[in-house]
This record gives sequence, structure tokens and C-alpha cells, in this order.
Amino acid sequence: MILLDGKKTANDIKNEIAVKVANLVAGGGKKPHLAAILVGGDGASETYVNAKVKACNKVGFDSTLVRFNANVSEKKLLAEVKKINDNSDIDGLIVQLPLPAHIDELKVTEAINPIKDVDGFHPANIGRMVLNLPTYLPATPAGILELLDRYKIETSGKHCVVIGRSHIVGAPMSILMARNNNPGNCTVTLTHSRTKNLKEITKTADILIVALGKAEFVTADMVKDGVCIIDVGITRVKSDKTKSGWKLLGDVAFDEVSKKSSFITPVPGGVGPMTIAMLLKNTLVSTDKLLY
Ligand code: NAP
Repeated sequence: MILLDGKKTANDIKNEIAVKVANLVAGGGKKPHLAAILVGGDGASETYVNAKVKACNKVGFDSTLVRFNANVSEKKLLAEVKKINDNSDIDGLIVQLPLPAHIDELKVTEAINPIKDVDGFHPANIGRMVLNLPTYLPATPAGILELLDRYKIETSGKHCVVIGRSHIVGAPMSILMARNNNPGNCTVTLTHSRTKNLKEITKTADILIVALGKAEFVTADMVKDGVCIIDVGITRVKSDKTKSGWKLLGDVAFDEVSKKSSFITPVPGGVGPMTIAMLLKNTLVSTDKLLY
């Protein structure tokens, strides 16, 4: 079994990006600049945004964090998006999701200029992804492709099973694994909560990508020998063995499933760090303005 080390791979990517930024600046270019909008004080969102800003600083990007109270009006938020769209110094913009219930997430996502949409969530960019055109790929699926690529895992002709069909992970992942490209060229089965006989399907997977958000859902009896496992899930559970009093679990029962796997991502330290690295990669590309 080979552990797919997302932490190390993400650090390699960050170092590569830092060199590119240094060269860009040495050549008289401007630093890539990412703006992030955070609405409300939700703990997880705060943690994610802070990690993104910190990562920007680490690779030499400029970053701007705009904070709003949870009760900010949709109009005010849209006005800020427009302001950042119109600011030529800012290359990439992300609005941390989820947004409070009174704000229409799709409306906000659609308000972002697609050329600055480094999360790759704008319908225009999703459309370009489906058509296999140059675009910003959503960071988590892009990070998984990068891991498969860097570990030279063969995907062509394989059966890839994806559990979960969210707009940010499962659905785009299934499209990317089926595209005529490398990594890609899999035969893909996309499964979800209404799928019947899930275990019969997962047992036929050469590559199993799990993103449903239920701790240790995939057990050894659900996979075949030699499977490649990509565990996207992150669930915080109480633990009396850690100083913080909690620990993170993936969607895969790692100890038993890893024994049957050829490759497997750990949680933490697998897909999570790759997601941030891919956001940085998209932001670097956004300075080019030549994507479309
Ligand atoms: P989500 O929006 O909650 O979607 C979950 C999906 O799983 C849905 O499509 C749901 O089916 C499906 N599902 C639920 N129960 C199922 C079952 N028993 N059998 C089969 N499918 C089932 O989740 P998400 O946003 O994609 O996130 C999934 C997990 O990944 C979470 O733990 C999240 O924290 C984590 N995550 C990690 C990263 C990272 O960077 N590592 C990034 C994003 C998300 P229906 O569509 O039928 O409801």
C-alpha cells in the first residue's frame, strides 16, 4: 500500500508556485492577488479562509480578506463583489461558502467575473470544464487529479466509482474522471444516497473517490483488493486521545481499508492540503488573463 501524501505534494506545489512568483516579480511583473470574502463568524469557514490567506502569503501572493457580519444584506455583498471585479489589481476572488440563508449563493457566485472565479464555481467555468476547455477547475477535484498524476496512477480504462454528487466535489469529479484526458478516460459510476446496492458497485471500483461526509462509511468489505482510495470526507469527532479534544476522520475506515488498497489518501493530510494548493495554482493562472 502506498500512502498518497497530500501534505508533501501540496508543499511541493507551493514551492513550485513560490519560485514562479519570484521569477514573475523579478521580471517586473506584479504579484498575484487573491481576494476572499467571508460572511459571518462560522468556525469552519473562518479556519478555511485563514488557511487560504496564510497559504497566499507563503507563496508570495498579495491577499485581501473582506469580512462581513452574518446579517449583511445581499445587496451589500453583491456591491463588494462588483467592486472587486472592477479592481484591476485583484486577480482572483473567492466567496467562502456556505453563505447565510438569506443570501442567494447562486446569485453571488454568478456575480463574480468568471475570469476572477478561481474557485471554479461560476456556471460559465463549470460549462467550460464539461466541454474540456481551459478553465479554473474546482479546487478539490483538481487536487485529486493532481495527486493521481503526480503518483502516476493509471486511470485510462479503469472503473472509477464516486460516492457523493455535490456541486463542489462529487459531480465535477465524475466529469473530470470521464473526460478524454489524463488523468481521465475512466468509466465512471456516480453514486449518491438513492443508489441501490452501493456495495456491489463499490466492489467493482479500481478507483474509489469518497465524498459523502459520513465518518468511516466505507469499510473493507465494500472494496476489492488493489483498489485506489481517495478519501475526501472530513468529519470532526470527539476524542479523549488528543489535546484539543477532537480529531478528524475521513469517509473511509482507514485501518481496515488500507490493508486492501494499492494507494490511499490519509485524513488529515490527503485531499485537504491539495485543495488549497490548487486554489493557489488557479490564482497564479488568473494573473495571466489568457485563460479564455
Ligand atoms: P454534501 O454536499 O453534503 O454531499 C454529500 C453527498 O453524499 C450527496 O450527494 C449525498 O447524496 C451523498 N450521500 C449521503 N449519504 C450517502 C449514502 N449513505 N450513500 C451514498 N451517498 C450518500 O458533501 P460535500 O460538500 O461534497 O462534502 C463531502 C465531504 O467532503 C464532507 O465531509 C466535507 O467536509 C468534505 N470536503 C472536504 C474537502 C477537502 O478539501 N478535503 C473539500 C470539500 C468537502 P444526495 O445527493 O442523494 O443527498
